[in-house]
Amino acid sequence: MTINDTHRIIPPQLNVPPRLLLGPGPSNAHPRVLQAMAMPPIGHLDPKFLELMDQVQTLLRYAWQTDNAMTIPVSGTGSAAMEATLANVVEPGDVVLVGVMGYFGNRLVDMAGRYGGDVRKLTKPWGEVFSLEELRKGLEEHRPAVLALVHAETSTGARQPLEGVGELCREFNCLLLLDTVTSLGGVPLFLDEWGVDLAYSCSQKGLGCPPGVSPFTMSPRAVEKLNKRRTPVTNWYLDMSLLCRYWGSDRVYHHTAPVNMNYGIREALKILAEEGLEASWKRHQSTAELFWNGLEDVGLTCHVDREFRLPTLTTVRIPDGVDGKAIARQLLLEYNIEIGGGLGELAGKVWRVGLMGYNSRPENVLLLLAALQRVL
Ligand SMILES: *Cc1c(COP(=O)(O)O)cnc(C)c1O
Repeated sequence: MTINDTHRIIPPQLNVPPRLLLGPGPSNAHPRVLQAMAMPPIGHLDPKFLELMDQVQTLLRYAWQTDNAMTIPVSGTGSAAMEATLANVVEPGDVVLVGVMGYFGNRLVDMAGRYGGDVRKLTKPWGEVFSLEELRKGLEEHRPAVLALVHAETSTGARQPLEGVGELCREFNCLLLLDTVTSLGGVPLFLDEWGVDLAYSCSQKGLGCPPGVSPFTMSPRAVEKLNKRRTPVTNWYLDMSLLCRYWGSDRVYHHTAPVNMNYGIREALKILAEEGLEASWKRHQSTAELFWNGLEDVGLTCHVDREFRLPTLTTVRIPDGVDGKAIARQLLLEYNIEIGGGLGELAGKVWRVGLMGYNSRPENVLLLLAALQRVL
């Protein structure tokens, strides 16, 4: 046998440009998080790692304001944790009502269907949110087993109010599932008070950690539905009835936890706890307001009404006659600043600017505004 050297092409030394990530994610990782991730991996059943797992779970409960026992970081990106929520509680034929007001609502529809859900949609134009009355009508008409909503719709920059929705779901005896990918850490969130039964997030947006592990939580009501399933969870990797034996007291091997990613999210959540939730939410709000006011001065407008505007992600209308893609490209190549473009209904109409986690600081706003003014 002779070794084939066709693919033996040695790339140059890794050289990552110093980008400022002000798009819809990932955002820049906090230096302390990167430092934590550079520690040597230990065994995923090492008592020191088990201790760290407990700490991550406790910190996650704080960040989400929940007492849910089943609160863990799923191995994978936000979409894995998203899939985990649906995979565990949706059985074939279950009616799943999804509030679609942007791109990620549609992803929930797609996923719920793949798990055999009888999926129904409530829709809103991109940039708007559902009123409590609209949700009540939807529940009355469809009588779902699960109502799925996106708290922070990253494709539009709109924040779905949750006050009263949990009570509504209890009245109609359905579970409330919430996407908090772009809200965790940056936008007020009270999972237990709001009666949220299933929620997921990611590491790389509001938490200032690289992508790779993703917060997941389920309430006792959701666990009860999981325990009563007639059919096994059809996704082995994300089956919480198996995973709870690793994250619970049994410590049974399921899959190898991404050890260093867990170092990273532990540090990110520790930073959040040190700052305090309220202070972090306030910081995100004041940084966003600085940006919104600055946009007005430059003559640019936001797509979402102030009342429902997310502090973590702003959709900025691209002025008539301006090539949005070219501007974003110029910001990246000339100023090392990444911003995002529009998706779906908003493609070509908006830029998406994320000010999340470690990146939510006034100096970043001033830098972006100055660069924007120059390239425009
Ligand atoms: C980013 C995002 C996701 C998906 O997360 P990934 O980490 O990209 O898999 C899901 N929902 C919302 C609202 C998001 O912004």
